Amino acid sequence: MTRKAFVIGHPIVHSRSPLIHGSWLKAHGIDGSYEAIDVEPAALPALFARLRAGEFVGGNVTIPLKEPVFALCDSVDPLAETIGAVNTLVAKGQKIHGFNTDFMGFLGNLDQQAPGWSDDLEESIVLGAGGACRAVLVALKERGVGTIHLLNRSPEKAEAVARAIGSPVRAAPWGAFAELAPKAKLLVNATSVGMHGSRFSDLPLDRLPKGALVTDLVYVPLETPLLADAARLGLNTVDGLGMLLHQAVPGFEAWFGIRPDVTPALRAAVEATL
Ligand code: NDP
Repeated sequence: MTRKAFVIGHPIVHSRSPLIHGSWLKAHGIDGSYEAIDVEPAALPALFARLRAGEFVGGNVTIPLKEPVFALCDSVDPLAETIGAVNTLVAKGQKIHGFNTDFMGFLGNLDQQAPGWSDDLEESIVLGAGGACRAVLVALKERGVGTIHLLNRSPEKAEAVARAIGSPVRAAPWGAFAELAPKAKLLVNATSVGMHGSRFSDLPLDRLPKGALVTDLVYVPLETPLLADAARLGLNTVDGLGMLLHQAVPGFEAWFGIRPDVTPALRAAVEATL
C-alpha cells in the first residue's frame, strides 16, 4: 500500500518540504507520497482523525500549527516539550506521537558543513529569543557544549528562555556582545534579522576570535549580510539552508524506513527555489 505523508500549515504553498521528501522518495524508489495540505487551526482535529484512521503514516507541521498540535498528540517527546513546538508527527496504529527535529537539523547542518565545530566549545553566543532559538539551545545543550550566552533585543525574553532551558544557557544584555565575543568560538543568529537583506547595526563581529564559526538560521537570502560580513573578516560561516534539509531526515526515516542523505544535488534543487 502506498505510504502517504504530509506537511500541514496555513499558508502552506511556499513549503519546500514536498520537494525535499519527493526527491528522497524518487531516489529510493519508495511507493510513497508527500503532499502539502493547507490546514487552519480549527481544522486540525479533522486532519488528526484522518491520521488516526490510517490514511497517513505521519507528516510535518509548520506555522501556525506547531503549538496547537500538542493537545491532539497522544505523546510528545520531552525535547519537543522543552522546545515548545512539534514539527513532526508519526502515526503508530491509532496513536500519534509528536517530535521536534529542528534541533537535529541544526546539528546535522553544522556536522556536515563544519565537522568538529563542537569540539572543546567552551563559550558560544546565540542571538534571538523567539520560537527558533529554543531548538538551537536544546541542540547545543544536547551536544554538551560549555556556556551558551543568549542575547536578545528584548532582554526579558532572553531571561525567560534561559530560565526555561536551564544551564548552560545564560541570558546577557544585547550590549554585552563586545565583551563576550572574544571567547565565543560559535555565533548563531536565531533572530529574523537578515531576511530581505536586513543587517545588525550594532554587532562588532571583529571582536570574535580568529577561527570562530558564524551560522545563520535565516536562509533567504542564503548569504545574509551577517554571513557576508563574517566571511569578509576571515571567519568560518555556515548558512541556514542545511538546517531545513537536515530537519527533514528523521521524519522521512520514521515514515518510510530509510535514512536519506542530504546530498549536494538535493541542496542545489532547493537552492534553485529560493
Ligand atoms: P520569531 O518571530 O519568533 O523571533 C524573532 C526574533 O528576532 C526575536 O528574538 C526578535 O527580538 C528578533 N529580532 C527581530 N528584529 C530584530 C532586530 N531588528 N534586531 C534584533 N533582533 C531582532 O522568529 P523565529 O524565532 O521563529 O525565527 C527566526 C528566524 O529563523 C526566521 O527568519 C526563520 O525563518 C528562521 N528559521 C530557520 C530555520 C531553518 O531551518 N533554517 C528553522 C526555523 C526558523 P525581540 O524578541 O526583541 O522582538
